Amino acid sequence: MTRRLELLQLARQVKGFMPDDEGEALFSAAREAGERRPEGTWLEVGAYCGKSAIYLGAAAEETHCVFYSLDHHHGSEENQSGWEHHDTSLIDPADGRLNTLPTWQRSVADAGLENTVIGLVGPSVVIAQHFPVPLDLLFIDGGHGAEVAWADYHAWTPKVVSGGTLLIHDVFPNPADGGRPPYEIYCAARESGRFIDERAVGSLRVLRAV
Ligand code: SAH
Ligand code: MG
Repeated sequence: MTRRLELLQLARQVKGFMPDDEGEALFSAAREAGERRPEGTWLEVGAYCGKSAIYLGAAAEETHCVFYSLDHHHGSEENQSGWEHHDTSLIDPADGRLNTLPTWQRSVADAGLENTVIGLVGPSVVIAQHFPVPLDLLFIDGGHGAEVAWADYHAWTPKVVSGGTLLIHDVFPNPADGGRPPYEIYCAARESGRFIDERAVGSLRVLRAV
């Protein structure tokens, strides 16, 4: 089996909320971004257990990019106890909080991607304020509440270089399908005139910075 197939298969097995077809679209969009701009710097907001990190990491490895996978690893609102996407096996008994960092580390190690996928552990906006490197690719899939999603939009999208790629997950134009904030920041990205649509697969949107 080729290295690429091995990684795509591994990604499918990691816990998370990304359907296989959207994961593969994520890989393809990133692979094309890396071909256009090899040796680039990439970042995702929202790492969870490392599923999207393997899809993106596979593309980063092939194109010699470095990919930062950012999360505070304590879950979003919808991952907390009582919510739809809660997974009790991810609770740290020491403090009763969700902790996805050990699972994320295991995913990246199993994939053999430790030199390509670099973890950043902490609050998105604090890291953004101190993250000086322009981004060739940005994937926004962090908190989906209005405040958090807009904070991510304002903190990170200005760092995307012209010709770079912006990916946004969980974009649901129809409110019946899911929460609005990712859709709203997607609309804002287009309306800003800085990004144009490239592709849509499921709830994944691929945009290019003009
Ligand atoms: N991209 C992942 C899923 C991410 S789920 C995948 O497809 O596999 C959303 C993640 O965002 C959660 O793990 C949560 O901990 C993280 N998150 C939410 N708000 C955050 C914030 N303000 N700073 C850092 N991480 C945040
Ligand atoms: Mg998502």
